[in-house]
Amino acid sequence: MVVVRTVEALKEARESLRGSIGFVPTMGALHHGHLSLMRQAREETDTLIVSIFVNPTQFLEGEDLESYPRREEADRKICELAGVDILFMPTIDQMYESDELAIGAPAIKGYILEGEKRPGHFDGMLQVVMKLLNLSGATRAYFGKKDAQQLVLIEQMVKNYFMDVKIIACEIVREESGLALSSRNAYMTPQEHQRAHALSRALKCASKSIMAGEREVAQLKAQMLTVLEETDRVEYVAIVDRAFRPLEQVEIGNTIILVAAWVGKPRLIDNIWV
Ligand code: AMP
Repeated sequence: MVVVRTVEALKEARESLRGSIGFVPTMGALHHGHLSLMRQAREETDTLIVSIFVNPTQFLEGEDLESYPRREEADRKICELAGVDILFMPTIDQMYESDELAIGAPAIKGYILEGEKRPGHFDGMLQVVMKLLNLSGATRAYFGKKDAQQLVLIEQMVKNYFMDVKIIACEIVREESGLALSSRNAYMTPQEHQRAHALSRALKCASKSIMAGEREVAQLKAQMLTVLEETDRVEYVAIVDRAFRPLEQVEIGNTIILVAAWVGKPRLIDNIWV
């Protein structure tokens, strides 16, 4: 595995590559969710590039940019074991200059749910993903369904800007208990961790009701909110189609159910695709 920290060094490392490139962008503090993306990329492409970069432009004022978990040594070892060929860990200076061209998230899809609660987050996310996709030269780039709205916006960016990369949507990896893995789970105490299960339980409850024939979005949301009472504060429960348009009736094969809630320090998100 080659570890590169500059744009120059990454370009140099890429020069000798032949065949397809699989790319997995991350913010580090790697867990089995990240690993599953790497594993899939490893299987489907010739070279695996992973980036670790805590991107400042996608954090809002007052969010956890400074305290976001950073575990460089452990992450390096995990990447080595996962068969990563090139690990890109740039500094902020390598990625940004002071007067940058901006990329804006789309006016509707980019400003509902996560985009409404975290205005500007998706602009910064798309900006860094565009940079990283260009730098990596990826043939296929792997993203988790865990960040469903992010995934849909990246797919749209690639389409709107005619970018030559295939975006691969990967399944959410969960603890046995159902809790979706997240680097931010590390912020929780054991008690909060227990209460955090309410998110996946609420989603499971909705999925069971749907299997039993329920299609009314209002009804499903009400059921979920009851389960979510265990969290500290629910930010949203939403049932949308795969293009993030709100639904009144669940459409099997075209629906995403999403939840965002606070449990202790972290704000957690989870979803299921129905
Ligand atoms: P992050 O480091 O949180 O920016 O995540 C990097 C990538 O890993 C993103 O595409 C996430 O959607 C994905 N990811 C994070 N958690 C999970 C998970 N539990 N299961 C699957 N993918 C995940």
